[in-house]
Amino acid sequence: MSKRVAVVTGGIGGLGTAICKQLAGAGHTVIAADLPADDARRASFADATAGLDVHFMPLDVSDFSACGAFVRDVQDAHGGLDILVNNAGITRDSTLRKMDESQWEAVIDVNLGSVFNLSRHAIDGMQARGFGRVINISSVSGQTGNFGQTNYAAAKAGLHGFTMSLAREVAAKGITVNSVSPGYIETPMTRAMPEDVRSRTIASVPVGRIGAPEDIARAVAFLADDASGYIAGANLPVNGGLFMSF
Ligand code: NAP
Repeated sequence: MSKRVAVVTGGIGGLGTAICKQLAGAGHTVIAADLPADDARRASFADATAGLDVHFMPLDVSDFSACGAFVRDVQDAHGGLDILVNNAGITRDSTLRKMDESQWEAVIDVNLGSVFNLSRHAIDGMQARGFGRVINISSVSGQTGNFGQTNYAAAKAGLHGFTMSLAREVAAKGITVNSVSPGYIETPMTRAMPEDVRSRTIASVPVGRIGAPEDIARAVAFLADDASGYIAGANLPVNGGLFMSF
């Protein structure tokens, strides 16, 4: 196995922490890029990743020029950027009739704009080195739509078009671009659901349980592996069978 340099955006969040741990456990150097966090949150992330080759770097993924400076810093410090996991995401839920422009723009900028912002700066270095893995974290909402999430579902569905198009552009250069679409995952958000809604939700999952962050992290690490070079432009749903298609 080659030791690679990986960037995980939203890297100190629920899924991001699990992805950082999984990639570092696979032997890679991992940079968790996230908004500046308070000391308590940084300490908790440091505890969760203790003993692993994981580093925190502050970044606002919706800022195109900041993403350029960030990619240059990573390349200068670590000699390259081989694996890019576009995981940062936010929700600003509302039915369309009540949604204001700021809710639309924030969700599109963070969930979709960020994927352009980082990929655009990272792809040349990957191409020059003849190896790259770009993994975009989408959502089941981007496949089925979801009540109150026109902004989020549009951004997450947009990721699939981006993924397939960039995959075609760079497949011959040793770079694969794929997406992972999580279903219901055990996070503070799903833990906050009223108990009856939560049990109904879990009952609707064919596998019969809510997903764990590690379920997503394993899928990401699989796609990031050197040996996964024949998987290009694919979407891997990790949702316990909630939504099936081919
Ligand atoms: P999370 O715990 O809220 O993590 C998201 C991380 O992204 C947070 O650390 C957040 O920082 C960070 N972030 C927000 N805006 C950012 C920005 N402008 N620049 C840099 N970082 C930013 O959420 P999660 O549940 O782990 O979700 C991770 C990804 O999975 C998201 O793309 C989400 O849409 C997707 N997903 C999650 C689920 C689920 O059930 N959890 C299901 C489907 C898809 P702050 O905390 O400071 O805002």
